[in-house]
Amino acid sequence: MTSTLVKVPFVDLSIQHQPIQTKIEQAIDQVIKQGDFILGEALAEFEVAFAAACGVSYGVGVASGTDAIALGLQACGIGKGDEVLVPANTFIATIIGVIYAGATPVLVDCDYETALIDFESAAKAITPQTKAILPVHLYGQMVSPSQLKDFADTYNLIIFEDAAQAHLAEREGIRAGAIGSAAGFSFYPSKNLGAFGSGGMVVTNNQAIADKVRSLRNYGAPRKYFHTELGTNSRLDTLQAAILNIKLPSLSEWNLARNKAAQVYDLALQPLETQEVFPIKNYSQFGHVYHLYVIRLNQKLAQHREKIQQQLQELGIQTGIHYPIPCHLQPAYRYLGYQLGDLPQAEALCEQILSLPMYPGLAQEQIALVNEQLAKVIYSCNKS
Ligand SMILES: *Cc1c(COP(=O)(O)O)cnc(C)c1O
Repeated sequence: MTSTLVKVPFVDLSIQHQPIQTKIEQAIDQVIKQGDFILGEALAEFEVAFAAACGVSYGVGVASGTDAIALGLQACGIGKGDEVLVPANTFIATIIGVIYAGATPVLVDCDYETALIDFESAAKAITPQTKAILPVHLYGQMVSPSQLKDFADTYNLIIFEDAAQAHLAEREGIRAGAIGSAAGFSFYPSKNLGAFGSGGMVVTNNQAIADKVRSLRNYGAPRKYFHTELGTNSRLDTLQAAILNIKLPSLSEWNLARNKAAQVYDLALQPLETQEVFPIKNYSQFGHVYHLYVIRLNQKLAQHREKIQQQLQELGIQTGIHYPIPCHLQPAYRYLGYQLGDLPQAEALCEQILSLPMYPGLAQEQIALVNEQLAKVIYSCNKS
C-alpha cells in the first residue's frame, strides 16, 4: 500500500510555497541579520496586518492556537470556577485551551447538517457557573454571528471564538475573530494560513484584553523584570511572523481557490445523494474558507469507512477523519463525566464523516478523479 503512487494527496503545501519561496528566504535572511528573534519587528508588523485582515483592532502573537485559546480566555477574565460551553466535535486543543485557562469545559452537541455548535443543546447546558461560549468555526465555516450574539445576550455570556480553521472566513458580513470579546487563531503549517512550525494569535477589539495577553505570553511582565501576574512563555517567533507576513497577502486568493474547489466537489457529488452521501452544509457561500471539505456517509457506509478509506488510498487518493472520536469520549477527559449517548449528533457525525483532499492548487482533474473513484467505491459498498 505504501508503494501506491499518490495521485491526490490529502494536502500539498509545496504548491503554495513554491512561487513565494524566494521572498520567504529573503524575509528569513532579514530576521537573521537583525537578530530580533523574540518579539521582533516582523512580529509587530504581522500582528497589525493580521488583525486588520480580520477586521479587528489588536492581534497578539502566541506560540500556538492552543495557547491562543488558553491565554485569550484568561485575558477575558475566565478561569477557576467558570464553565465554558464548547462543542464536542472539535479538535482536542479547543478543550485543552479551556482547561489550561483554569476553567471547566462543558461539552455540547452539534448540528447534524453543519457540524457547528447546536444552540439548543448549549441552552440545556447553562448553569449559574456558565461564563462563556466558545464556538468553533469548524472546517472553515463560521457559526452564525447573529445566532451567537443572540444566545450570548440571552444568557449573558462572553463569546470567545475558536477561529483556528477559519482565517478570513465571513458570514453575515462579519469576519471570523470579529464577533466576540476575542478569538484564537492557529498558524499550524496545514491551516489556511500556516507557519513553518507552530504559531497562534489572539485577536480582539478590546485593548485591555490585548494588553493582558501581551503580558501573559511574556512571563506575566508588562515591563521587563516586573511581574504582575503568573504568565508563561508563549510567543509567536519573529521568524515565523516574517514567513507569515509573506504568506498573508495570498491568503484571500488561497481561500477562494478552496471555495472554488468545494463548489466543484459539491456539483460532482450531487448524484451521490441517492446513496445518502452529503457534503456538510454550507450556509455562508463564499464566506466558507474550507479548511476541510467534509462529507457525511450513511450508517451502512459509515460501518465500512475504514475500508472505503483504504480502497481510496490504494487508488492513490488520501482522505482523513476530522475527528473520529468526540472530545467527551476521549480517555483523558472521562473525568468530566460524559457517556456514550450524551451528545448523539456529535457521536453520529464522528462515525459518518470523511474528509476529502482540499488545498489551494488542487486541480479540477484531481477532484474529478476523487469523485469518480469515491462514487465507484460507494456504489459497490452500498450494494454489497
Ligand atoms: C489547529 C486547531 C487548534 C490548535 O491549534 P495549535 O496551533 O495546533 O495549537 C485549536 N482548535 C482547532 C479547531 C484547531 O483546528
